[in-house]
Amino acid sequence: MHGTSNKHYDVIIIGAGIGGLVCGCYLAKAGMKVLIVEQHHKPGGYCTSFKRNGFTFDAAAHSFGSYRKNGNMRRIIEGLDLDSRLEVKRYDPSDIIVSPDYKVTFWADTDRTVQELQHAFPKEAENISNFVTNLINFRPIDFAILRKKTFKELLDQYFQNDQLKAILSIPVLGNGALPPSLISAFTGSKIFTEFILDGGYYTGKCMQTLPDTLTERFKELGGTIKTSCLAKKIEVKNNETKGVVLKDLGYISSKYVVSNSDVRQTFFELLGDGVARREILKKIDAMVPSLSIFTLYLGINDPHESLPDAGTNVWFLPDYNIEKLYFSAKNMTSDIKYFMMRFSPDKKTILAFANAPFRDKGFWRNNKQTIINNFIKKIEDVLVPGLSSRIVYKDAATPYTMYRYTLNYKGAAYGWATFPSQLFTPELRMMTPIKGLFLAGHWTTHTQGIPGVAYLGYDVAKLILKKEKTYRK
Ligand SMILES: Cc1cc2nc3c(=O)[nH]c(=O)nc-3n(C[C@H](O)[C@H](O)[C@H](O)COP(=O)(O)OP(=O)(O)OC[C@H]3O[C@@H](n4cnc5c(N)ncnc54)[C@H](O)[C@@H]3O)c2cc1C
Repeated sequence: MHGTSNKHYDVIIIGAGIGGLVCGCYLAKAGMKVLIVEQHHKPGGYCTSFKRNGFTFDAAAHSFGSYRKNGNMRRIIEGLDLDSRLEVKRYDPSDIIVSPDYKVTFWADTDRTVQELQHAFPKEAENISNFVTNLINFRPIDFAILRKKTFKELLDQYFQNDQLKAILSIPVLGNGALPPSLISAFTGSKIFTEFILDGGYYTGKCMQTLPDTLTERFKELGGTIKTSCLAKKIEVKNNETKGVVLKDLGYISSKYVVSNSDVRQTFFELLGDGVARREILKKIDAMVPSLSIFTLYLGINDPHESLPDAGTNVWFLPDYNIEKLYFSAKNMTSDIKYFMMRFSPDKKTILAFANAPFRDKGFWRNNKQTIINNFIKKIEDVLVPGLSSRIVYKDAATPYTMYRYTLNYKGAAYGWATFPSQLFTPELRMMTPIKGLFLAGHWTTHTQGIPGVAYLGYDVAKLILKKEKTYRK
């Protein structure tokens, strides 16, 4: 299958996010000639890290889930023989939720988590046990039923207590960027099983280790990657992909094209006019992206006991009206109401995250510093007394920054908003109506987050290899 020319590949993948890298590795492993092009100067997309003033910060994603034995992420990494090279470590507890009346801890030991929840909410003891047991034992058919429901409807089926429902909803709001009344029960329950009950995994010294190791493996398997290389156009003739036009490098032909970049860019810019059917463009144009995230980066000179355990996500829930909290984030002023913070595994930095809307550069130029200062004050008031005196470096990424580094539409953190109505949109499956064009990443309407996009990348590779009849399980 290997071509001879550097101007022809079997597959060109646009984007070296985790979805693109996993897809590339599995295709190269099967012997295909694969080129990955990435517009940023390093691979990883939302899973990169950067250095400032001697501190290493994860730019966005800061841990992952689904790495239990037989978990999807574990199987994908093992399939590439990377498990020992990656040195994946699980932080325990993975998550703590602090509300005005409760502190709820999510341990690696699910029974312990259930017992603590039951202790806090004794009248809901049996319901808690049923909820967790059913989530863990859900079969694919059960998840199909959950597609049409909201997470609120699912919680209402199990629980009476509104405080408990709010506590179980805050990590879903943070990791899915929608409140329980709007997010699909499918996504909410997947966030629980794949991110919360099996979360807190981390690779090496920083998240960059994950894309760097995948890139290294991709090259070992014969793949070619070009960074600082923007794809400008996907060439299509008679509804079939012919190759990709790259900035500076020009046209390179390929049989297949996989887009790991956002779907709006793929359909409106890369394909250009008159390629995709008008109904598809109309549908994509009407779809709603997920919220973005305002991310605070703090360098600390003096770790102190008031800081949470390194590697644990600590959520602050100020009151139990989750819907109101969501709308406060969506209409962000300079005040942060709820957030999640994490003291890094190297015990030198803090990341703090708040769901936030996309606004233009001017808004952030005028408001970024005020938001940073308010955010620090909020953390200091409610979780880490004396924090400001230990900060030696502070900066933040706005939703605009998220867009600028990854070209994700509106800096969306998780691709499309996962309303039940937007989930599994037929037109945004991995295989598109254009022959040879595939989508891999969080802008397909299937899933999100690192394990989700890793699985999509793997699945797209499987689809292509099946077409080529070279797929070996
Ligand atoms: C602040 C924040 C925190 C998060 N935290 C977590 C977390 O802790 N755990 C978790 O599991 N998930 C987290 N997520 C979500 C998760 O990071 C994403 O869902 C996932 O990484 C998306 O991966 P992807 O492969 O679909 O795309 P991306 O990571 O968006 O990568 C797409 C790549 O395509 C490149 N690209 C785009 N257009 C072009 C072009 N024309 N030419 C060449 N290259 C192009 C981009 O530069 C980018 O590198 C977080 C997201 C954010 C924003």
